[in-house]
Amino acid sequence: MSVCKLPPATVLLALLSSMSLLATAQHLWPRGAVGLECPRRAPSSGLLTDRLSAEQIERWGEIERLVLAEDVKGQPLHPTLRGLWEWADASSHAIHLELPESSKVSLPTVGIFKIERLDPQGIRHVVVIRLYLENIDRARLRPKAVRKGGFVPFKKLGKVECYAEVLGHELAHAANILSDPERARLVEEAVEQTNGLILARHRRRDPAPLDPELRQRLIERDRLLKELEAQIVATEATIWRELRAGERAGTRVRD
Ligand SMILES: [Zn+2]
Repeated sequence: MSVCKLPPATVLLALLSSMSLLATAQHLWPRGAVGLECPRRAPSSGLLTDRLSAEQIERWGEIERLVLAEDVKGQPLHPTLRGLWEWADASSHAIHLELPESSKVSLPTVGIFKIERLDPQGIRHVVVIRLYLENIDRARLRPKAVRKGGFVPFKKLGKVECYAEVLGHELAHAANILSDPERARLVEEAVEQTNGLILARHRRRDPAPLDPELRQRLIERDRLLKELEAQIVATEATIWRELRAGERAGTRVRD
């Protein structure tokens, strides 16, 4: 579920095969004040940065400052993005953030939202949002297609604003999917389980052609992914406009 076009099956294969290689350094970054008497405890729900290295946390901090930027009256400069962020951070779900090396995934992929574990009770799903910063850096230098309503991903945005745009896209997926138990179940079944089957084939280097059942699953997965993209396009366009307006107001985080 990236901000760019949907990855074709071959790209997905490369992506899936790379996932086990991703670094998962454990640097804790607890939110809120921590007193001497209070033992450090990592939060277990909301936006979680425990998979980021110290260096990645610095980059993440730049994105966070931009998302939370306010005008002189204390009003959010990017209200849609800020609203999604606050929803995610206050949610009962575990939303892990990752900033993997882009060299391990194909170029069109700039962000991913993925369900790692579905809670049958619907209370605490475990999900991950990945931002591929180097791919975003490259994508912002290439010409973009104009989308509905004049929206052009990354156009006239600085580096960190582009990261924030992709984050907003993936947060919109998270809100759209996790706030609807039936949709979350469907995504887990039609997308994650199908991806798991493809990954298993890839790992055992199965040379046999796809059987009809798996072919049908891929068709249904891609149809659902297309629907999910369509459901958030208006939100993404609003986020892009707010980021541009914020930049014009002089809040841009310099490259
Ligand atoms: Zn998407």
